[in-house]
Amino acid sequence: VTATRPDRTHPAGPGTEPRPLASRLQINAVSFDLDDTLFAQEEWLAGAWRAVADAAAHAGVDGARLLVELEAIAALGSDGGQIIDRALYRIGATDVAIEPLVDAFRTHVPDHLTPYVGVPEALARLAAQVPLALVSDGDPTIQRAKLAALGLGDHFTVVVWSDEHGRSHRKPDPLPFRVAVEGLGVPADEVVHVGDRPAKDVAGAAAAGLHSIRVRTGEWAATPDDDRALASYATVSEAIDAIDALRAQR
Ligand SMILES: [Mg+2]
Repeated sequence: VTATRPDRTHPAGPGTEPRPLASRLQINAVSFDLDDTLFAQEEWLAGAWRAVADAAAHAGVDGARLLVELEAIAALGSDGGQIIDRALYRIGATDVAIEPLVDAFRTHVPDHLTPYVGVPEALARLAAQVPLALVSDGDPTIQRAKLAALGLGDHFTVVVWSDEHGRSHRKPDPLPFRVAVEGLGVPADEVVHVGDRPAKDVAGAAAAGLHSIRVRTGEWAATPDDDRALASYATVSEAIDAIDALRAQR
């Protein structure tokens, strides 16, 4: 019988205690991803699909049927693209103008979105100690509406929407991280970026010389960890607790 060793791909897997961060680290600013890190992107998406179905109903399409198809196709993964086109095709509504429906998606402004449990309190506590940045891909109009609906905007000293620096600078491009570091006013190696997608958040932070922590929430929760992350936690609240504990030691 071999002894159980910690799984390197999931250092803090289900049922294990989150591990503390190495005490030699000096963290003087923290950067965060938005979607599936601070809140469940699927909550926003559900509202956006309802807005698309409503717009379609105005154009004479069966909105309820379209909504079922939109959600079914979207459940296959957000990277598929052409979701509205495919849903219209499935219900045989191929003669409908798609632009107003895409507009309904893009301009969807939710009144309220729900941050993950404990996030508003944890961010407020952290923001009282160190400057915080938000680094997010996606359409800046949509991303701004999400941040407003979450009510978290006041905690961030710096907000970087990578698309405002050109579409070719989406994560893992280092540029949005460099812009954040400059705004935070601390050296890159004193910043830790917290995000859910190893290939974007961990890889991008590493490319720009920041530390990173991976959180296993949202659509990409089952994706294996990237060894370049300092740690992997089940939630962003656990990640913030670990950063708090590290700073309290110093
Ligand atoms: Mg994300």
